Amino acid sequence: MNGLIDGFAGGEKASLPETGAAIRTALEIDPPSVANLTESDFPGFRALAEDLHAVFVRMDDDDLDGAARIVNELLRESPASPYLHKEDDIWRLHHHPPDAPVLPMWRAICAESLARVIGAQVSDRLGVCSASRCDRVFVDTSKNATRRYCSASCQNRAKMAAFRVRKASDLDR
Ligand SMILES: [Zn+2]
Repeated sequence: MNGLIDGFAGGEKASLPETGAAIRTALEIDPPSVANLTESDFPGFRALAEDLHAVFVRMDDDDLDGAARIVNELLRESPASPYLHKEDDIWRLHHHPPDAPVLPMWRAICAESLARVIGAQVSDRLGVCSASRCDRVFVDTSKNATRRYCSASCQNRAKMAAFRVRKASDLDR
């Protein structure tokens, strides 16, 4: 999803992959989705990525009401619809209409996942990078939910910046 968002990454203007490649990477967890993707879906996926990014930003700002509004809007557009599907003899729970085209299917999946996060009061698990000039989002899977940066390189940049600030203030004394 980050691959579809203009903005900053790691201190630089984000250099985005070509739209189709970015979407295919995001969907690679489900090969049939990649196979069914057509160019006419690209604008819809871009819009979806922007909506999802907006949800992360609202959550990061502790604006849960704003985040919930966007998620509800997505669910209205593409209602999630749970059903069981047997794959390799195992029943799996899916969250989209069985024969939904690829875009509404993913809108429903993403919206339902975010709705669960908000509904379970664990939205502090979703964040936006705290480093300067970076707005990439992440899911915090750390034990204590203390992650603040999108990547190790942003964490190091932030550490260096803090170190320089400390050093400069020592010199001022
Ligand atoms: Zn970052």
